[in-house]
Amino acid sequence: MTQVETPHARVPLAGPAVRTDVPGPSSRRYLERQEAYESNARSYPRRLPIAIERAAGPFVRDVDGNVYIDFLTGAGVLALGHNHPEVVDAVRRQLELYCHGLDFPTPIKDEFVSVQLGLLPPEMHGRTRIQLCGAAGENAIDAALKLCKTATGRGDVVTFHGGFHGSTHSTMALSGLLAQKEPVANLVPGVHFFPYPYSYRCPLGLTPDTCAAGCLAYLERVLTDPNGGVPRPAAVLVEPVQGEGGVIPAPPEFLQGLRRLTLELDVPLVVDEVQSGCGRTGRWFAFEHAGIVPDVVVASKALGGIGMPIAAIFYDERLDVWEPGAHTGTFRGNQLAFAAGAAAARIIVRDGILDHVRELGAYTLERLAPLPERHPFVGDVRGLGLMLGIELVDVETGAFDGRRAATVQRLALERGLIVELGGRDDCVVRLMPPLNVSRAVLDDGLTILEEALDLAA
Ligand code: PLP
Repeated sequence: MTQVETPHARVPLAGPAVRTDVPGPSSRRYLERQEAYESNARSYPRRLPIAIERAAGPFVRDVDGNVYIDFLTGAGVLALGHNHPEVVDAVRRQLELYCHGLDFPTPIKDEFVSVQLGLLPPEMHGRTRIQLCGAAGENAIDAALKLCKTATGRGDVVTFHGGFHGSTHSTMALSGLLAQKEPVANLVPGVHFFPYPYSYRCPLGLTPDTCAAGCLAYLERVLTDPNGGVPRPAAVLVEPVQGEGGVIPAPPEFLQGLRRLTLELDVPLVVDEVQSGCGRTGRWFAFEHAGIVPDVVVASKALGGIGMPIAAIFYDERLDVWEPGAHTGTFRGNQLAFAAGAAAARIIVRDGILDHVRELGAYTLERLAPLPERHPFVGDVRGLGLMLGIELVDVETGAFDGRRAATVQRLALERGLIVELGGRDDCVVRLMPPLNVSRAVLDDGLTILEEALDLAA
């Protein structure tokens, strides 16, 4: 057990320390009440059955006093862990001043926008517009596509197998996850799915070293084929690292090829950085690893520092053909989120956290690399920065093994580690520690994970 007196926790927690069954008696009571009153669509507490009392830095404490290391971080929202005191102070100061602002200019919004624009690659400086959107990533995805449709006058969109862009009508239509889509008729039309370079299981049946080139060539062939059936689209929408799809980084050459192709066809390239952005992969945005300049960047999640809801698109000013009021929304001006987001971004830069993420990400991949040798059911270990995944496979059939992944998740929880699942059939155990996690806490978490994998064998 590591005692951590981090600067991130005013009242530090120490952990991991699980002293009751999971769920403990108090958690059980809250879960029963939740089951009685909340929608059947509730998801996380089904697999992570705890009620949370408080959190600090990389730790979460449940209502039974059990302390867990948090590698879920609010589905990638909490870049600096829970309740970073400097960010909390910034929010508290703003709370006293002014909280809600539609899209009026305010000093804190001005500061937030300046900080965010300054973090974009130099090629985007001076030509990038920002639109603050409704409070969730899916609203910003919607905004990005509306913008591209308006600017191009076209109606079709290219997106990729395995992608996830949200749960609204329109964003579900753009996402791969059939379980969400199938019960809902009449989704947004004109969406065309293409193979994403999931090289461990190449959708074109190619080898890992030819998968990305093959996926790109196929897209190019279809989009340039007069009989290809896909009209020139309003946008190509891609996650530089598929998150919910199972932590699948697109190789840089795929993103570079996509950029070349979309420029040649005059199609705006939209990168969905809702999950991979704001430092998660060791660059501010994941597309930077490929050295490309997209037309539209969609950001949310960690943009709000400590979980304050916010979403935005950053886009090339040539696309700014919107009429006044083209994308409105009551919650486009959450001043607390601006304060939190500006403070968090400054801390990430000041404390060299992007270097830390790259270093710890490489360390973790190296530490987990022997897993496929130790366990035949570990098919692949992959990721970028601190966005990492372990894909579990059925040893007999090679199929996605979501059942064993759920067992690993449960065994880890009982030992004091919260992890996320993703990928096809939820067969990928996902690690998204806070970006400022210490090596000691990271090691404690990885040790629990290794133990859970051993026990699940
Ligand atoms: N895009 C990506 C890549 C995501 O991972 C998510 C959510 O997980 C979304 C969009 C939707 O964001 P939100 O849940 O905030 O609407």
